[in-house]
Amino acid sequence: MSVVSSVCCYCGIGCGVLIEADAGKITGVRGDPAHPANRGKLCTKGVALALSAQASGRALFPELRTDKAAPRQRVSWDTALDHVAEKFRAVIDEHGPDAVAFYISGQLTTEAYYVFNKLAKGLIGTNNVDTNSRLCMSSAVAGYKATLGADSPPGCYDDIEHAGTIFIAGSNTAYAHPILFRRIETARKADPELKLIVVDPRRTDTAVEADLHLALLPGTDVALYHAMLNVMLWEELIDRAVIAAHTEGWEALREQVRDYTPEKVALICGVEAADIVQAARWFAAGPTLSLYCQGLNQSSCGVDKNASLINLHLATGQIGKPGAAPLSLTGQPNAMGGREVGGLANLLSAHRDLANPEHRAEVARLWEVDDVPATPGRTAVEMFEAVRRGEIRAIWIACTNPAQSLPDQNRVHEALQVAECVVLQEAFAGTETAPFADVLLPATAWGETEGTMTNSERRISRVHAAVPQQGEARADWAIVCDFARRLMPEKGARLFPYDSAEAVFNEHRETTRGRDLDITGLSYALLDRAPQQWPFPEGAVSGQARLYADGVYPAASGRACFHVAPYRPVAESIDARYPLHLNTGRLRDQWHAMSRTGRVARLFAHADTPVLSMNARDLELRRLKGGDLVRVKSRRGEVVVVAEVSDSLRPGQCFLPMHWGGRFMSGLGANTLTLPVLDAVSKQPELKHAAVQVVKAELPWRMAVLAVGDGAKLLDAVQPLLRTCDYAAAGLAGRDQDVLTLRLAHSQPLPDSMLAALDAALGLDDSLAVMYYQDSPHGISKRVRVDDGKVTAARLTGETAAFDWLRDVIVEGAAAAPLRTWMLAPVTRPPAGGAGRGRIVCNCLNVAEPDIVAAIAAGAGLAVLLSELKCGTECGSCVPELKRMVASNRVAV
Ligand code: SF4
Repeated sequence: MSVVSSVCCYCGIGCGVLIEADAGKITGVRGDPAHPANRGKLCTKGVALALSAQASGRALFPELRTDKAAPRQRVSWDTALDHVAEKFRAVIDEHGPDAVAFYISGQLTTEAYYVFNKLAKGLIGTNNVDTNSRLCMSSAVAGYKATLGADSPPGCYDDIEHAGTIFIAGSNTAYAHPILFRRIETARKADPELKLIVVDPRRTDTAVEADLHLALLPGTDVALYHAMLNVMLWEELIDRAVIAAHTEGWEALREQVRDYTPEKVALICGVEAADIVQAARWFAAGPTLSLYCQGLNQSSCGVDKNASLINLHLATGQIGKPGAAPLSLTGQPNAMGGREVGGLANLLSAHRDLANPEHRAEVARLWEVDDVPATPGRTAVEMFEAVRRGEIRAIWIACTNPAQSLPDQNRVHEALQVAECVVLQEAFAGTETAPFADVLLPATAWGETEGTMTNSERRISRVHAAVPQQGEARADWAIVCDFARRLMPEKGARLFPYDSAEAVFNEHRETTRGRDLDITGLSYALLDRAPQQWPFPEGAVSGQARLYADGVYPAASGRACFHVAPYRPVAESIDARYPLHLNTGRLRDQWHAMSRTGRVARLFAHADTPVLSMNARDLELRRLKGGDLVRVKSRRGEVVVVAEVSDSLRPGQCFLPMHWGGRFMSGLGANTLTLPVLDAVSKQPELKHAAVQVVKAELPWRMAVLAVGDGAKLLDAVQPLLRTCDYAAAGLAGRDQDVLTLRLAHSQPLPDSMLAALDAALGLDDSLAVMYYQDSPHGISKRVRVDDGKVTAARLTGETAAFDWLRDVIVEGAAAAPLRTWMLAPVTRPPAGGAGRGRIVCNCLNVAEPDIVAAIAAGAGLAVLLSELKCGTECGSCVPELKRMVASNRVAV
């Protein structure tokens, strides 16, 4: 067995992992105790990395189609890349270089990012290269640049232990960055005086932990920060010496915030004026560490939100010292690395700006090309609009899933349909984008690739291959280099001579010389010994934990700049037709578009379907109850989901997770509803807010399906049903084996031919192994398959009461014999056995919600839950939820 160090491929915390491998297979993954980001801990997603590496559903061979109506065929790498080179060359020759585009990903290694950027800007001569980080981080980038002069996050994770106040804004850290939240919990235990302020419209598990939760109305953050500054001014909590010595633009900001009194802003934000005052006092007392994410970034005024929060740090001197910094949390594992190499349509290598002629000339010199094009490229949303209009004819998508993740999905799907050529470079075969690909280029996945990634605190870690690639997959950077050499043989060979990821890194390293992120002192050898923070210039013995301790900022004046912007409301206001604020966001155990987590059955145990959370009053107003199917409609489209009552939301607001797309549900997911309105500066779309209406979905016909087998193949098999039914939610269950779970509802029964095809696909047509029940007059038909005394598949049509307990019977591998009589009966629990186990709260130790609720009803507190049920004692990701359950003192159901 071998053990190789690497980093987790999910969120931007960048936890170090140790990958165990045997006979070419990843057999285990554990936290790396030596990695400073996590010190050996992993969250539920990280713990399940080995399972995701073992799951099927990989893209293994190049595939090509020359007729859009025909399926892709397996071809050789030579055939696939020659075809793409020919296609791109023809488009460029006829329509110019801006008729092609590259849409890449914050999940690529820095090396892959670097070569994509050089391919577009250096070889082809287009700036049409953008990334899914545009949906995630671009407002944070622009916010840093507008205030501090560079995209260089000033703080580090160690600041948590030095802070007097932690100010979390627009981030459900307990769910989205769990390991960092563990660290906050530990710091608060060690220092009970450490204050936690959470700004979030929802009472999330993060907010429940807070000393002060400001449940502001969606999109009102800028007004809140201005009001806090107003209080700081009145109470003389600002640091005038720091303002005078190290900043500019103060007078204009002071004038701006004069009108933002706590009383006035309390009405705008829907919070108490006294809470604004309290937040301002705790913030100014410091040392204050701000942690923020999509609530600030995914907004039509995301840059103003970021910069207004940074204003508070500058005005109070809460920056450049231990415990004091505005620290943006990155959603993706290598969003930061992408920013370092300038992998966005408006940036160039090493934090250079495309708009700056000197920067363009520097990069052209470094790359040994005549010039770098000056026209800014299309950003993510603009890029797909240009594809839809036919201005971009060939698009190359790498390691991302725009057919699920971009706003206004109907238009994105239109764009992908009309594109002349769609190239998809991807490790996974079943993403929502895959059906649109004319060419599929299989890429190596996590655990098979070499390179580097940078986390939220500027720490670069080595990514190592623990096993060989699967099938014919190739490293992302190598695919790009091969293509470049085919597209323009002479120039391509000169610009892309690399024979290893290390060679790419070494060139990237040189582009940073003298820049704010100078890493000329780093090498693969050094990073193999330990991850390092930048800057790390040649001759340095260590990286820099904190920036700006000397008060000198990387702006022409050397001063930080206050950002002056008025509060502006959300782009789409609610009205009589669309009266609810929709907030979209992340869940604890899924990540982004589920191409990886959606292949791991146990990661569905905490939440197995997309559910719309609503306040009880809003449900009541619409004569709805928890569990009803509802249509959620915006001006752009609709989805059908189950509604649930949630006390985490105020009346007038609802929340839908963003993970589920067309592969796991009917329709195209939450982003059918979101709008493509962009921040004017960062071009980041307002994914966090849309105005919606919610009405009951009258879908009388129901069906539920369960089947044991290969998860990816089972999901493939039921895709026609997902596309047919008004409501469909597919997922997986199980720990030792994959179990497909599928719930369907429709206005009318599906044709018998579809049911017969499903039965055949799931082995429910074998009369020797299948029990069945048919009540045609009432539209009921049921089939249950038993193999070797265990239930292996079931289809309940017309009546589905037994779904939950049948699922648990299958998951637990329980003997079928004692339950035979009840399997086809309309019962929610069999007399001979228990009901369904219910939602799993502790994924590591498989502890279900009803068991926890019963223990709490019997008097258990958190300590007893941990010691007796053992929940929360492994990765700890469920501890905030356990605390909330104890606090709300739930009674047994
Ligand atoms: Fe991975 Fe979880 Fe760490 Fe994020 S917090 S890097 S998802 S283990």
